Amino acid sequence: MTDRPITRYCIAGGGTAGWMAAAALARFLPGGHTVELVESEAIGTVGVGEATIPQIHLFNGALGLDEAEFLRETKGSIKLGIEFDGWLREGAAYMHAFGNIGRSAGLLPFQHYWLRAHALGFAKPLQRYSLNELAGRTMRMQRGKTAGGQEMPYAYHFDAALYARYLRRFAEERGVTRYEGRIEQVERAGQSGDISALLLDGDRRIEADFFIDCTGFRGLLIEGALETGFEDWSDWLPCDRALAVACEGGGDFTPYTRSIARPAGWQWRIPLQHRLGNGLVYCSAQWSDDEAAETLLANLDGAPQTDPRPIRFTTGTRRRHWNRNCLALGLAAGFMEPLESTSIHLVQSAISRFLAVLPHAAPDPAIVGWFNQQARFEWERIRDFLILHYTANDRVGQPFWDQVRTMIPPDTLTAKLDQWRATGFIHREHEELFTDVGWFQVLVGQGVAARGYNRLADAMPEDDLRRFLGETERALIEQVKPMPRHLDFLRDCIARSERQ
Ligand code: FAD
Repeated sequence: MTDRPITRYCIAGGGTAGWMAAAALARFLPGGHTVELVESEAIGTVGVGEATIPQIHLFNGALGLDEAEFLRETKGSIKLGIEFDGWLREGAAYMHAFGNIGRSAGLLPFQHYWLRAHALGFAKPLQRYSLNELAGRTMRMQRGKTAGGQEMPYAYHFDAALYARYLRRFAEERGVTRYEGRIEQVERAGQSGDISALLLDGDRRIEADFFIDCTGFRGLLIEGALETGFEDWSDWLPCDRALAVACEGGGDFTPYTRSIARPAGWQWRIPLQHRLGNGLVYCSAQWSDDEAAETLLANLDGAPQTDPRPIRFTTGTRRRHWNRNCLALGLAAGFMEPLESTSIHLVQSAISRFLAVLPHAAPDPAIVGWFNQQARFEWERIRDFLILHYTANDRVGQPFWDQVRTMIPPDTLTAKLDQWRATGFIHREHEELFTDVGWFQVLVGQGVAARGYNRLADAMPEDDLRRFLGETERALIEQVKPMPRHLDFLRDCIARSERQ
């Protein structure tokens, strides 16, 4: 790359990733920069990606989006967590709810008191100590402080196509230029090898100083042109296909995502204002497409609105997400199944990391190296968390579940499991996405037994421990009682945004 200042950005692709990048650049770049985006309606987007995690507030907030308007525009709903049904064994369900479980007492996090009470035989299931889960299971939702002074962290379900459209409007209003057309070739500069231009159908050419590859699984720039390489993680996460289908609303309007284990994969259920989003992620080595489609269609809460749409993928990551003058975002950077709704978050965190080191001329290798190292760390730790859901299962006798239960997990996950088993200890390394509370819920939910707990918890007399747990549970139940129902909360929100 030359030392020419970077003032011209070109985003290839206009799915969720492309428009998130465009909106963020439009919002934050100072004058003197241009942002152009190319997308092809004929190619279209992947068209899924409906569940998020609470960090989405940071992104929407940084753009200055109004929540009520956002919910109206994207036909969104509230998400307080994810229910995992049948993942340990058929009939057993637990929730990975956002927010705290119980409360800490003295030096220790709650898990040690709970483990001790569990060993003594009087601990209740974790859901009794989770505000989000208690509210979610009774279809309630509240923003701001509860009567007990607590906040409920929440995320959203939304229509991904509507979110991209909403962000497109935001970006175009702030000067982003959109080109409709097919990228036919990626041109590289002779000497440096950097990307110099995109050649579009109709003999059009878009030059830029920096390119953001948001072309989805194709990775036209990062892989097609720069041949960055892909690290395949499908030995650990063998699902490689999905079927997605929307259906009419039906059943509970849950303020949480449902993830239901199936014989060779799992099914999601995501309630939106205008429909239910459903899909099945499965392993093609263990299940035929017909078997998967039959299972999905037999387990919908309403009439399907279309035929199930097939999607194929390989789980893994590009070896580098930032290569030369190209940053890959979204599916172009890699893919992990949406079990914990992390893909949109990974787009957002890459954007904020990129903005933190925004290059003004040829990117320094030290900066690019740092970026790629952080991305790898973030991706690998999420990968480990996903693997935990699979590997700790008790669905004995089902070939797919037997396979994932007996695989050898990555060393980083093995270390975490050993630490937990030894003393109920969960260590979260600096920028790891999932908190110890998240790990705690999934470890317990997946039946991974801890042999011990931190003995400092024994400092609390047994009667006090009983009282402590009882009071924690009662206080949470009281806080949930006056909360509005999820549906009413949303109706209120939409009505407010329409009055504005
Ligand atoms: P795409 O949506 O595929 O967009 C690619 C863009 O590139 C399109 O605009 C296309 O037109 C353009 N393009 C491609 N080639 C060319 C070309 N030659 N010329 C011009 N334009 C081109 N994430 C979550 O956070 N939560 C979820 O619940 C979730 N569920 C998912 C379920 C499934 C089954 C899958 C597969 C993914 C899911 N994801 C989820 C991931 C999420 O969908 C994506 O991360 C997100 O939509 C971003 O996609 P994208 O913009 O990278 O790619």
